[in-house]
Amino acid sequence: MQSIRENVAAIEAKIAAAAKRAGRNPEDILLLAVSKTKPVEMIQEAVDCGLTALGENKVQEIMEKFEPMGKGVHWHLIGHLQTNKVKYIIDKVDMIHSVESLRLAQEIDKRAAAAKVIMDILVEVNIAGEESKFGVRPEDTEVFLRELSKFDNIHVRGLMTVAPFVNNPEENRVYFRKMRELLVDMNAKKIDNISMDVLSMGMTGDYEVAIEEGATIVRVGTGIFGERYYPTKGE
Ligand SMILES: *Cc1c(COP(=O)(O)O)cnc(C)c1O
Repeated sequence: MQSIRENVAAIEAKIAAAAKRAGRNPEDILLLAVSKTKPVEMIQEAVDCGLTALGENKVQEIMEKFEPMGKGVHWHLIGHLQTNKVKYIIDKVDMIHSVESLRLAQEIDKRAAAAKVIMDILVEVNIAGEESKFGVRPEDTEVFLRELSKFDNIHVRGLMTVAPFVNNPEENRVYFRKMRELLVDMNAKKIDNISMDVLSMGMTGDYEVAIEEGATIVRVGTGIFGERYYPTKGE
C-alpha cells in the first residue's frame, strides 16, 4: 500500500496534467482532502503534505476533529446538512457545499448573523436527476439563487454536484460539462450577492475528467487515505 504522501504526490501530478490538457492553471484547482471516517493521525499526514482544506460529510465528525486538528486547517462541510445542526458548525467551517433548500439557507443565514460571519456556500445541483441524490434540479437553480441573494450573511460562491457512481469516469463527462454550462449561465444573470467562481465536482474516480471540464474544487477521499471502513451492524 502507498503512503499518504505518495498518494498526494500522485494525485497532484494528475491534477496538474489534467489542468494542462484543458489549458488551465493547476493553482486554480483546490484539492479538498475528504477525511471522513479517518483518524486525526492520518489527516495530519495529509496536512503535512500541504493539504490544509479538509472535507467532512458529517457535523459530528467535524466537531470531534476540530480541536485536535487545530487552527491551521480549513473545514468544508460537503454532505447533507440538517437544519438543527447548523449551529454546531457555523463557527467552524469555511464553506458549506451542500445547500439545496430555502429552509437550510434561512437557518445558515440566521446562525451566521449571530456568529457575525458571512458564510460561503455552494448550491448543490442534482445534475443527473438521480432519485437517491440531494440537490436542486438544474432548471430550478436560477429561482433558488434569486432567493438566496436576499440573505445578508450568506455568500453564494458557486455550484457543487455529486456525480453518479460509474466505473468509467468518461460517463460523467457529460454531467460535468452540464455543470460548467450551468455555472456560466448563472454567472451571466448577474444576480446581486451571487458569485459563480467555484465549481465543486469530481471525486477519486473521476476528478481528472472533472478538471478537464472546469472543476475548481475536487473532493478526494479514497485516493488520499485509502478505502473507508464502516462498521457493520452488530459489530
Ligand atoms: C465521500 C465523499 C467524497 C469523496 O469520495 P471518494 O470517492 O472517497 O474520493 C466526495 N464528495 C462527497 C460529497 C463525499 O461524501
